Amino acid sequence: MIILVLNSGSSSVKYQLLDMNKNTLMASGLVERIGDKAGETTHRRMPGTPQEQVFSREQNIPDHSTALDLVVKLVTGEQTGVIKDISSISGVGHRIVHGGEAFSAPTLVDQAVVQGIRDQIPLAPLHNPGGLAGIETAQRLMPGIPNVAVFDTAFHQTMPAEAYRYAIPAGLYKELKVRRYGFHGTSHLYVAKQCARVLNQELENTTCITVHLGNGCSMAAVKNGRCVDTSMGLTPLAGLVMGTRSGDVDPALHSFLADNKGLSIREIDSLLNKQSGLKGLCGDSDMRDIHHRIASGDKEAELALKIFCRRVTQYIGQYMAILESTQAICFTAGIGENDSKVRQLSCATLSGIGVKLDPERNRQRAAGQTLEISSRESQVKVLVIPTNEELEIAIQTAQVLS
Ligand code: AMP
Repeated sequence: MIILVLNSGSSSVKYQLLDMNKNTLMASGLVERIGDKAGETTHRRMPGTPQEQVFSREQNIPDHSTALDLVVKLVTGEQTGVIKDISSISGVGHRIVHGGEAFSAPTLVDQAVVQGIRDQIPLAPLHNPGGLAGIETAQRLMPGIPNVAVFDTAFHQTMPAEAYRYAIPAGLYKELKVRRYGFHGTSHLYVAKQCARVLNQELENTTCITVHLGNGCSMAAVKNGRCVDTSMGLTPLAGLVMGTRSGDVDPALHSFLADNKGLSIREIDSLLNKQSGLKGLCGDSDMRDIHHRIASGDKEAELALKIFCRRVTQYIGQYMAILESTQAICFTAGIGENDSKVRQLSCATLSGIGVKLDPERNRQRAAGQTLEISSRESQVKVLVIPTNEELEIAIQTAQVLS
């Protein structure tokens, strides 16, 4: 079974073509700057194998339809292709950021589902339109091939009301569905499944904390395989400190900035999403740059790192309290998988609650490998687990189709 995975953003489409029977990644790529005159495409044939070939080109890509047409041409092309024609594709899995309360599982797309995704646009105005464009274009360019929507929010739909409701007037939940949703769900689920595998047990018996630290950062408390709490909220701005997002701040900050700096709601929203987090604290949003600056004695960069890690520590403590007995803490994504200093600082004060790293194991490079980095006397295992959201989307798509 061959599955095409599409992650359609407002101005880009990421794709992977996977052979689920052979468990291989046949092709992957990225079409960027859709709508721009100088659109860019990078296509990898047989990525990660000795036969890997990379094709890059620049051309005008006015819309998603042109982008997807290009993807189809690349995966079927004489030089660039890996399949003869699109009839080899069994289904297309789409990453959809917001499923609201309407979608708690991957769903075969029909007209009602398209409308259901459209109905969630007020909750994700920047993200859901891209996903919808991907679905509608796939329906047009690949008629007869089923589409499956896989939602970032779905894994978190098992949270109890005491985790997802805010202490604001109840009418706002009833009228506008104002509540915590959580994001990165595909990654948290994939990592929780891998954690179960490492612990040699079923997901249903697995209680862990998944710590996704990339450009966006979030955590999930997973009890017996089901999400019971997560750090992102109504929007992906809440929770941990991120590359450019603030994470948790005092909710009165909006009125304070409006009153004292004359900023509009839109300007404050942009400030918290794009000018804050690591970037706001020290001017750099990439953790590698921050480490370089710390190495040359930069105190601002050092403080940014400390604030970032302290928030992770706080959430781990919070979730361990909620879970009662945590079997594992799983670090994942760009920073979580690669940055031993962040892992060390985040766990440094947790020995009192049974979490102890082995400094030597923590320093090993994961490089796509799952690693156990806790010490022998640690009561909670600490793991580094590479995430793979596209593979999880393909797995869920294949499950829906079969
Ligand atoms: P992601 O969103 O998962 O691609 O992660 C992006 C983040 O991972 C950026 O902040 C990068 O600085 C960080 N990152 C990637 N590789 C490394 C590395 N080797 N060491 C530290 N941080 C890294």
